[in-house]
Amino acid sequence: MMEAERITTGTQPDHLFDHTPETLRSTLADYGEPGYRADQVLEWVYRHQVRGFDEMTNLSKALRQRLEDSFVLYEAEEVHQSRSPDGVVKYLLRWADGETTECVSIPADDRRTACISTQVGCPVQCSFCASGKEGVRRNLSSSQIVEQAMFVAHRAEGAGRLTNVVFMGMGEPLANYAATVSALRTINASWGMDIGARKITVSTIGLPTQIRRLAEERLQVTLALSLHAPTDELRRRLIPWAESVSIAELVEAARVYFDSTGREITLEYVLLADVNDQPEHARQLVGVARRMRSNVNLILYNPVDGLDYRRPSDRSAGAFLQLLREKGINAHLRTSRGLEVDGACGQLRRRMTPPP
Ligand code: SF4
Repeated sequence: MMEAERITTGTQPDHLFDHTPETLRSTLADYGEPGYRADQVLEWVYRHQVRGFDEMTNLSKALRQRLEDSFVLYEAEEVHQSRSPDGVVKYLLRWADGETTECVSIPADDRRTACISTQVGCPVQCSFCASGKEGVRRNLSSSQIVEQAMFVAHRAEGAGRLTNVVFMGMGEPLANYAATVSALRTINASWGMDIGARKITVSTIGLPTQIRRLAEERLQVTLALSLHAPTDELRRRLIPWAESVSIAELVEAARVYFDSTGREITLEYVLLADVNDQPEHARQLVGVARRMRSNVNLILYNPVDGLDYRRPSDRSAGAFLQLLREKGINAHLRTSRGLEVDGACGQLRRRMTPPP
C-alpha cells in the first residue's frame, strides 16, 4: 500500500484559494494594508464570486493592481464541457502546467453538487476504471481542488446555488492528504465557501492510517469508502493497489471514524455483472456493513471502452438491493447520472487527451 506516497504538485504560483484569513492578513500587512482588507478580499472571492481583482470595487485601484500582480485567482482554463439531458455538466479543466482534470456539476431537485478531483489521474488503478488506466501524474494543490468547487458554483447559471461537494472525481483524496484537508477546511469555512461539513463527502479507496488521521481533524465530513468487493480475495483482484489492506483493517478504521465524528460511513459498491453482483456477494456485504455500522450505496457500473466489465441488468441490481434491505441494511441503488456525457470518471479526459 502506498499511504506514504509523495507526489509533487509541481511549482504553484501564489494562489488566492490557498489563503486563510490569517495568511492573507499577514501578506496584506506587508503591503501596509489593515487586517480587514483580507476579509474584504475573501468576501469578494467567496460571497460575490468575482472572477478578477478588478471587480473588487471597494478596494483602491493601487491595491487591486498589486493583488493582480501578486496572486492568481482562477488558474484553470475550461477546455471542454459535455452536458447530459438530465442537467449534469462535466467540465474538463486545463491547469497552468497543461495537465487536465475533470469536475462535474450535478443538479437535483433542491440541491446542486460539485464532484471534484484531487489528483491528475489516479494511483489506485481499479481494474474497472478509466482514470485508473494511466496511473497518477501529479497531485492537485489545495487551491486547485477549491477552484473546481468554485468553478462549478460559478457555473450554476441560475440553477440554484451550490449545496454539496463530493471528492469523488479523479484521484485518491487521502493519498493527497494535506491538500485535501486544507481544501476541505476552505470549502467548509464560514469565510470560505461555507458548505456545511455534512454536505461534503470524501470518497476513499480506504487508507486506514489516513482515515484515522482524518477522524482527528474535527471535520464532520461524510466518509464514503469504496469497497466494491465483500472479500479480500475479490477486492484485491478489482483493486490491486489495496493489496496490503484487509477489509478487517478497514472495518477498524471506519469504527474509529464513526466513534470520533458520529458520522456513519457510506460503503460504495460498484455493481459489475457476474463479478461482484451475485447473492453470495450480497450476503457477505451484509456482514461487512453490519461490522462497520455503515449504509451502502450501490452504483451501476458505467461501461468503459476497452474494458471487459459489464453493467448488470436492472433486475439483478434490484435483487441485490432487496437482499441487503431484507437483512436490515440501509441501502440505496444510485442512479448513474450523466452516462450520456462520459459519466464514468476519467472518460472525458481520456477522450480529449491524444495518445502519446
Ligand atoms: S475508481 Fe476511483 S479510485 Fe479506482 S482508479 Fe478510478 S478514480 Fe481511482
